[in-house]
Amino acid sequence: MAVVSLKVSIISLTCCAGCVSSFLNAGEALLEILSGDFDIVYSPTFVDLKEIPEVDLAIVEGGVRTEADEKLIKEVRAKSRILVALGICATHGGITSLGNLSSVKKILEKEYSLPVSRELPELEDLMYPICNFVDVDYYIPGCPPMPFLIVHSLKSIVSGKAPIRHQSVVCTECHR
Ligand code: SF4
Repeated sequence: MAVVSLKVSIISLTCCAGCVSSFLNAGEALLEILSGDFDIVYSPTFVDLKEIPEVDLAIVEGGVRTEADEKLIKEVRAKSRILVALGICATHGGITSLGNLSSVKKILEKEYSLPVSRELPELEDLMYPICNFVDVDYYIPGCPPMPFLIVHSLKSIVSGKAPIRHQSVVCTECHR
């Protein structure tokens, strides 16, 4: 019987892109889901498609720092059945929210020397996790999440099984 693949989009908001890189580092486990369960139809990293498509599953890394991020995450939510926040920037604001310690004006003065070029994106007042703007179905923590955790969690989500429940404290499984 033919396998029915889920249509998947991978979205990057304001972030370092380390979470998607970690996903791509999952090796054989990644190949396994790409050849069976997942059909990645949108990802600026490796699919040449400009329009955000309707999908079964959207995987989102990064948080909301710009007006463009806010518009994008709302469109992604409207076009996805399940939305997964991948990594701490998406789930809580992450390291990028260290910018919240300064005002937008101070950041621009320090980093870009006012007056600022009009080509800079319009910034929100703070860096926000995506749940401030849309409903999130699942959260995968980490900075970045370990590759095995990403793949296992995504497989659990699409198969309706409970994800890994860690029996030990944070950091004990990390190879670092
Ligand atoms: Fe980068 Fe960490 Fe944010 Fe992922 S959670 S995008 S690795 S800073």
